[in-house]
Amino acid sequence: MNRSSFCFRSVWQRCGTAGPVPARLRDRQGRPVKENETIRLSGWESGGSEMEDNYIKSVDPTSPLRGRTEIGDTVVSINGNAILDVLDYKFFAYDRELKVCLRRPDGCEYEVQVHKDEGGDLGLDFGSYLMDAPRSCANACVFCFIDQLPRGMRRTMYFKDDDARLSFLLGNYITLTNLSEREIERIIALHVSPINVSVHTTNPELRCRMLRNPRAGESIAVMRRFAEAGIVMNCQIVCCPGLNDGAELSRSMRELEELWPAVHSVSIVPVGLTRFREHLYPLTPFTREHAGETIDLVETFSEGCLHRYGSRIFFCGDEMYLKAGRELPDEAFYEEYTQLENGVGMLRLLETEFRSALKLADEPDGMDFTIATGVGAAPHLEKLLRLAREAFPKLRGRVCAIENDFFGRSINVTGLVTGGDLITQLRGRELGARLLISQSMLRRQEMDFLDDVTLEQASEALGLPVYPVECDGFALCDAMFGVLPELRVPERAETGEQFYRYNQN
Ligand code: SF4
Repeated sequence: MNRSSFCFRSVWQRCGTAGPVPARLRDRQGRPVKENETIRLSGWESGGSEMEDNYIKSVDPTSPLRGRTEIGDTVVSINGNAILDVLDYKFFAYDRELKVCLRRPDGCEYEVQVHKDEGGDLGLDFGSYLMDAPRSCANACVFCFIDQLPRGMRRTMYFKDDDARLSFLLGNYITLTNLSEREIERIIALHVSPINVSVHTTNPELRCRMLRNPRAGESIAVMRRFAEAGIVMNCQIVCCPGLNDGAELSRSMRELEELWPAVHSVSIVPVGLTRFREHLYPLTPFTREHAGETIDLVETFSEGCLHRYGSRIFFCGDEMYLKAGRELPDEAFYEEYTQLENGVGMLRLLETEFRSALKLADEPDGMDFTIATGVGAAPHLEKLLRLAREAFPKLRGRVCAIENDFFGRSINVTGLVTGGDLITQLRGRELGARLLISQSMLRRQEMDFLDDVTLEQASEALGLPVYPVECDGFALCDAMFGVLPELRVPERAETGEQFYRYNQN
């Protein structure tokens, strides 16, 4: 699980790579590709092709296929089952005894018998993570965050993924609106579970309106089929005032409750509105009062679920509590923290971990530091700093809340703070010897911000080292006390597939 740092949401999800291409391959125009030449491997960027997506890019040294297959070959079938993508590959490669049919680039097929541990990895790495092009969404949601991005950001930012395989493998949310009957049947047959579903509303007519897709209302029936097949679904509702809140939210909760235990958890998160909404559907942000009413509605309903099933099922995201100016619920409220990635209970868990870390901490290194964070999480970081100071009075540090001028000040989550805002708002201020930021502000491999400012550029502009810290109370405590994370060398040669996950789909 990739938890984002002291904030709400993990912003980036990396799915594929670009890399050296075997000499036998040809590019899309049929030209031979030179050994070690790097091509773009992302299917959706290039239009997608079998060659780019599902050829074997590397064979692990411990792979049972090592020496028995070659870079550039493709997996045709395993035990007679066609391998069309990573789901097929992972599912059918699970058994101990495998007959793997492979195809050379010249079309010649050959079979290899494999004996391995049950569930053991075949150790193959493919042209793209999915072995296929990622699927884009078929909707035009009125609240889509991607539609609210400014122009001129990197191209990958604008890709709207809605891919069931990414939901299972990486936790992306999907709307179920672009699944064919064959895909629905495959999810059931392979028992792809759990999956994350963006429900928003169970009212079919309202769902069609909100997703602006005439087929959007059919997805609830698909959820029922999944539930009957025992597929676990973690759901989210992006709550938009005046649309799917109030009585509509109550209806959605009632109808989703009927699908328990297949519907395992449901997060209710407030819609995010940037300043780039010209010509878009008129949406209003949550007021403090309305956020409070929504919390009351959800908590009252979930209290009943707790009584009936032993689980609350329905949880408001941290952001809703911050908007309402309410205290976050205590540790026990969040049960298994199922929707941590979606910003549900993240701040509570951070505090719990931080308190434990403090009990184990040695004296701080005595160096002054600054923590930069989004406006929403800033009071909580200040609280943690106060706790640390009470236990270790020599600790010297401060928290700086960064206003989001890039997207608009109503966006206050840490994961959407840009390098430009960080530099502009911190330059010239007393920052001490080091700056701690959330890892969630950066793309994990490239270590750059949403606006393409790099970590080195931020360090240089501010005149001090900038340390990205994982979302973990122990890591945060360490970084405050001077036990610092190693600064990784970023991987910038890559070009392909980074999916933006704040899209609320
Ligand atoms: S919110 Fe998600 S499903 Fe809706 S249009 Fe945007 S990317 Fe597509």
